[in-house]
Amino acid sequence: MHEFQLWINGRETQGDRVRTLVLPYDQSPIARVHDAGPAQLADALSAAHRAARIMRDLTAAERAAILRRAHALLENRREEFARTISQESGKPLREARLESARAAETLLFSSSEALRLAGEVVPMDAAHAGAGRLAFTLREPLGVIAAITPFNFPLNLSVHKIGPALAAGNAVVHKPASTTPLSGLLLARLFADAGLPAGALNVIPGPGASIGDALVDDPRVAMVTFTGSAEVGFAIRARAGLKRVTLELGNNSALLVHHDANLDDCIARAIPGAFAHSGQVCISVQRIFVHRDVFDRFCEQFIAGAAALRLGHPLDEETQVSSLITPAEAERVSAWIRAAAQAGAHVTGGDLHGPATLSPAVLTETPENSDVWVKEAFGPLACLRSYSDLDDAIAAVNRSPYGLQAGIFTRDLSTAFYAAREVHVGGFLINDVPQFRVDQMPYGGVKLSGTGREGPRYAIEEMTEPKLVSWRW
Ligand code: NAP
Repeated sequence: MHEFQLWINGRETQGDRVRTLVLPYDQSPIARVHDAGPAQLADALSAAHRAARIMRDLTAAERAAILRRAHALLENRREEFARTISQESGKPLREARLESARAAETLLFSSSEALRLAGEVVPMDAAHAGAGRLAFTLREPLGVIAAITPFNFPLNLSVHKIGPALAAGNAVVHKPASTTPLSGLLLARLFADAGLPAGALNVIPGPGASIGDALVDDPRVAMVTFTGSAEVGFAIRARAGLKRVTLELGNNSALLVHHDANLDDCIARAIPGAFAHSGQVCISVQRIFVHRDVFDRFCEQFIAGAAALRLGHPLDEETQVSSLITPAEAERVSAWIRAAAQAGAHVTGGDLHGPATLSPAVLTETPENSDVWVKEAFGPLACLRSYSDLDDAIAAVNRSPYGLQAGIFTRDLSTAFYAAREVHVGGFLINDVPQFRVDQMPYGGVKLSGTGREGPRYAIEEMTEPKLVSWRW
């Protein structure tokens, strides 16, 4: 079985302990992986601190070239990365292939942003006291950035942090999720092959509670960029003091389906929107509000489509829905579905198959106070509800504590733009599901869904400091 060591200062390094990583679908061992302890964390931080000096002295052209080479290397190894993603996260291979292709694109977008990063001229003489001065801003790298990533997109979400950070001339200490450390470790080796200076990217798997906390506390870390649960995100913000923090957190995404929607098109997109990666996507379609005129037809087609999805081993080419990340997560989602049923919801599907696999569940008549409605389910379920008044439906969408993305299907432009204005989220999709994302767009949430935006152009802004330089002639 392959053994993965930590990656510190441009080389493989032994960790504090070695553990066996399993395939979530059947719990079979897939690799041995080293976890960092305090000593390795200290080494990673020292290496990043030294490399931050080297990174800030590289030219934009040099940083862009490293990212372009990383993109080319990943393009050539997309299938290998897809298989790694699939094995460690349990994501069906067909979706893992999309993730590795997207990650390559994210690297390319990051390399272009390195070339575009610029300050601006400040019109000092607009103020009376400013006459006789020429001023401009420089965008300076922050130094060492701690990147903490979740299990559900182990490659592309890591690239969303590492790509812009390096493009801006920072150094990175990356702590991947304990369940999915392999993609990040392979990525660091790929960056070394692309010519990244040693120490500019260090990858240290290890328990969130100890390694994560120590990383957030270290004074050499200038910024923490975190994607994960709201609970951990809040704890990080509370500890981080004056460090810059961006938080990409959860959601219980809503989709509005108006009476004039193209239903076939909508359902064809809503089914993968709800059940891709077993709903373990932060923008997975969870609450679907359907106009009462088309509700019965929508339910019938959506339930039939969900039931037809093929369950199976993630590496099987035909599999459309595989397992959740752990048996405990499958049990949690199953318990939420059972509790909703006891409270009066009507449930189709949601059966356990094997240790961690749940069949897609569709719920109707879900009480508005049930967990499956109020919280982020992060499992293969969708709750359908009918509405007659669009404003009532929008009010119900907005009652969520979250606000990452939402969407509407309608053929009427005024309805579409009215909803876009009234729904309180970071991104609103018209005639698309809220689960849609391309990697160059600004992406992030309001309310409990987080602060800050990702997408290389936006992340690079957060990862630099504008320094004013003024010259009095
Ligand atoms: P999680 O449990 O919050 O873990 C995320 C990361 O934080 C992991 O690397 C984890 O390490 C680490 N961590 C745990 N405790 C920590 C601490 N005290 N200090 C610092 N780091 C700590 O989330 P997850 O279960 O992996 O991912 C699912 C969540 O991510 C969902 O809520 C989902 O909505 C969210 N998500 C959001 C976006 C977005 O862009 N908005 C995208 C994807 C996912 P360990 O694995 O070692 O515990």
